[in-house]
Amino acid sequence: MKALLVPEFGNAEVLRFGEIADPVINSHDILVKVKATALNHLDIFVREGISGLKLEMPHILGSDISGEIIEIGSKVESDFKERQRVVIDPGLSCGRCEFCIMGERSLCKKFGIIGEHVRGGNAELFSVSEHNVISIPDEADVDFVQAAAVPLTFMTAWRMVRTQAGVKPSDTVLIIGIGGGVALAALQIAKLSGAKVIVTSSSDQKLKQAYNLGADVAVNSETHPDYHREVYHLTHKRGVDVVIDSVGRATWDRSLMSLRKGGQLVTCGATSGPLAETNINRIFWNQLQIKGSTMASRSEVRNVLKLVWEGKLRPVVDEVFSLSEGIQAHKRLEAGKQFGKIVMKV
Ligand SMILES: [Zn+2]
Repeated sequence: MKALLVPEFGNAEVLRFGEIADPVINSHDILVKVKATALNHLDIFVREGISGLKLEMPHILGSDISGEIIEIGSKVESDFKERQRVVIDPGLSCGRCEFCIMGERSLCKKFGIIGEHVRGGNAELFSVSEHNVISIPDEADVDFVQAAAVPLTFMTAWRMVRTQAGVKPSDTVLIIGIGGGVALAALQIAKLSGAKVIVTSSSDQKLKQAYNLGADVAVNSETHPDYHREVYHLTHKRGVDVVIDSVGRATWDRSLMSLRKGGQLVTCGATSGPLAETNINRIFWNQLQIKGSTMASRSEVRNVLKLVWEGKLRPVVDEVFSLSEGIQAHKRLEAGKQFGKIVMKV
């Protein structure tokens, strides 16, 4: 099969579009003909090499996959049919530990992500356990490109907004860096939860697009670098209940300064870097809660995808490339100019 290969760790230029052996289908697996695969910041981190992560080379990236079933393993128990449109749940866990049994697989010691810990879907074919395969209902008004833009960011944002922060209609939520996939999904989920949402971005164009997706207030973080002061005024000197921050170092202190007493900051990543300074006085005096969040449980994935299939949440696609244009697609993501997901058609 053809695939976008990572022969060695490095910058976008290491990517090669070439031939590799077809994946092996085990008896509990489903073989999917990949139609589209979306990019995540994780792809950049893995391509550059994550300390301690050993991979068989060439590696294949790709956590977000849509396609159709072309072969079903002999021991597959679920009721899948050939030609069925599907997306792949990118979470991997042992299935046996105390957390997996509780339904909290992202707390599993062996938790992993397709495309990071094992080969992903930047390829013509992808073979995976039936437990990771989710049908797209026939009536869902999404194409393969839109479907590929959904799983990782929507599941991550769902766990952050609903499970970790428990956002409710009376809440005001601040979402940092609108434009990225998780931030856009979080905006829609927070609005669906009835909350008031403030977003930040350094781009007026992105802020305008965020209004179209339901943002109540959009603050330009370049013209208002002290945007926590804007937030303070906008909330009548109170601060917000929840901050959703996946930017990390560049915004950490301002995110904490934007919170009301007892407020919660939820983080799922640090695209600007993982090491930031924290004023501990602010944490205890204001009784702030800092929560980490990674991916989601199987039930969370199914809950959020149902809302996407029903049209209540919608994936935002920035630009579509072909798989052979992987280098350009990666460079687009690295430039940070995107609004929504960058997707490669296969
Ligand atoms: Zn486990």
